[in-house]
Amino acid sequence: MRKLLAGVYKFKTEIFPERQELFTELSSAQNPRILFITCSDSRIDPNLVTQAAPGDLFIIRNAGNIVPPHERHAGGTTAAIEYAVSALRVKHVVVCGHTDCGAIKGAMAPEDLAELPHTSDWLGHTLAAVATVRARHGGIRGEHLSELTEENVVLQLRHLMTHPAVAAAIASDALELHGWIYDIGHGDIRCYDERERRWRSVEDVYREQPELAAEIAANLPEHGDH
Ligand code: ZN
Repeated sequence: MRKLLAGVYKFKTEIFPERQELFTELSSAQNPRILFITCSDSRIDPNLVTQAAPGDLFIIRNAGNIVPPHERHAGGTTAAIEYAVSALRVKHVVVCGHTDCGAIKGAMAPEDLAELPHTSDWLGHTLAAVATVRARHGGIRGEHLSELTEENVVLQLRHLMTHPAVAAAIASDALELHGWIYDIGHGDIRCYDERERRWRSVEDVYREQPELAAEIAANLPEHGDH
């Protein structure tokens, strides 16, 4: 806790004054362009990885970067998605999985979760991804962790489409969905190519889609140069 308090003190006395203008601007409104859904894992820092500033990313975090399929009862993830898409009108949703994900390891070995009934239930939202990998290989083993991590992101993108706010925004070309995997050990991001159904390096995607690069440049660093 001492380290945390020291951090807050440093923020208040050093960082905040440097970016006073940005924080004043943000003090009464937010206008993020990106809904970023990722794992609760402590090793992921969405703002650091994307070089985004406060106000740029509306973030939902949970174990396994899961988007439960839409149901007609209130849930934190569902409400946050609805708010981001329908009220804040974000332009993009990124579902970002990551390497060495404890949730995905748990999904591979549900027998290890006997003492964690809520985690076990929650990871039920990954079962279709587990079944896909299992069917492909006639079983699921440690070596399939990376593949399951990818399939889970693809599955959660499908779940997103079941949310009415998301479906409506996509139908009116107001929203795009993106699947990413963050590689903790290499500081790398891989992006899912929906059309070709394969994963590509962020460099490839950036190079081949000048309009996307321009859009990212226009959206992300909005406050970055303060
Ligand atoms: Zn994780």
